[in-house]
Amino acid sequence: MSYTPNRQDFDHYMAPNYSPQQIIPVRGEGSRLWDQQGREYIDFAGGIAVNSLGHCHPVLVNALKEQSEKLWHLSNVFTNEPALKLAKTLTERTFADKVFLCSSGGEANEAALKLARRWAVDHHGEHKDKIISFYQSFHGRTFFTVSVGGQPKYSQGFGPIPGGILHANFNDLESVRKLVGDDTCAIMVEPMQGEGGIVPATQAFLQGLRDLCDEHNALLIFDEVQTGVGRSGELYAYKNFGITPDILTSAKSLGGGFPVGATLTTDAIAKSLAIGTHGSTYGGNALASAVALAAVEFIDTPDVLEGVKHRHDLFREHLETINRKHGVFKEIRGMGLLMGAQMSDAYEGRAKDILPLAIEEGLMALIAGPNVLRMAPSLVIPEADIVEGMARLERAIERLVASA
Ligand SMILES: *Cc1c(COP(=O)(O)O)cnc(C)c1O
Repeated sequence: MSYTPNRQDFDHYMAPNYSPQQIIPVRGEGSRLWDQQGREYIDFAGGIAVNSLGHCHPVLVNALKEQSEKLWHLSNVFTNEPALKLAKTLTERTFADKVFLCSSGGEANEAALKLARRWAVDHHGEHKDKIISFYQSFHGRTFFTVSVGGQPKYSQGFGPIPGGILHANFNDLESVRKLVGDDTCAIMVEPMQGEGGIVPATQAFLQGLRDLCDEHNALLIFDEVQTGVGRSGELYAYKNFGITPDILTSAKSLGGGFPVGATLTTDAIAKSLAIGTHGSTYGGNALASAVALAAVEFIDTPDVLEGVKHRHDLFREHLETINRKHGVFKEIRGMGLLMGAQMSDAYEGRAKDILPLAIEEGLMALIAGPNVLRMAPSLVIPEADIVEGMARLERAIERLVASA
């Protein structure tokens, strides 16, 4: 018989930078998953806002299968049809004229930041190098993106941090005004902070950032790695606010589970990403592009986007019903199918304790920091799975309450 890996193998063979749950899922279909023992789970985690169409959606499976028999990879010495189709469709459906393709969110943000710096050098000179971002923000794990991110625990302990980075308070325009000036190159912001606790930006805050960027000739970068591709109920969250960035980054839901990222911008700004300035071996990979194209075309339809808004209301109603009975949440918030429930004072810091209890009840969920239970399910999760998943969540929460 062939060897079946187990959870101890993780501790033996994998670098110790993660601490995964004890079960090992082996199969998924829609919003259900099965582990090695055949136990079934409902998936409210969605691979951290990645599995936008659940597991093994036929539209994505077909796109992958078809492309896998034609052409996988060429490198950027040649272009390919799926990459061109993906770039065309992204520009047709957004403010952008140009697309840089890559393989992850961190890589898309790294490209956005390097582009902003190069644009500033090209148009204004070396002195215009300040990047303003926000405390609690998350932009990826490369050294530049982790330094721009607003959680020092992720950037400290690795030696000298890249310079020219300033942090302000999210949703506090006054704190940005204190930092912004003619040396500001770019402001990078998530329209809704994801890892930082599912905190939507206010309309006035984003409008204020847009105005400050215009006033100081700085670029506004929206990190939509987590909020993008239908997650917010629109293709990109900027459309909910009616505020257009200069650069937008996308990944996670874009590939529905296949690694892919994209940096979107205008013709004028893209000129600074001239030949040789930047690159990525896998960027525009034909398999990744074919899957992402299928995901975007399927998700960016009135049916699917309306469905996200409807499911948002269902999630909210269920969470409020649970909270009326058990009083564990202080606030339920979010956009579309990226929802957060902040723990009440009595359960401060205990969101993480729900996760293993939920697993035992057959539900996968997430946290966003120690104090927020996060849900980022498939954008097409069946209503029956929402109802059953919420019943399982309630059982987990009853056990948390009983153990308190
Ligand atoms: C997940 C995330 C990233 C990083 O994406 P990776 O694909 O892990 O590199 C960047 N920004 C935001 C807002 C994210 O949620």
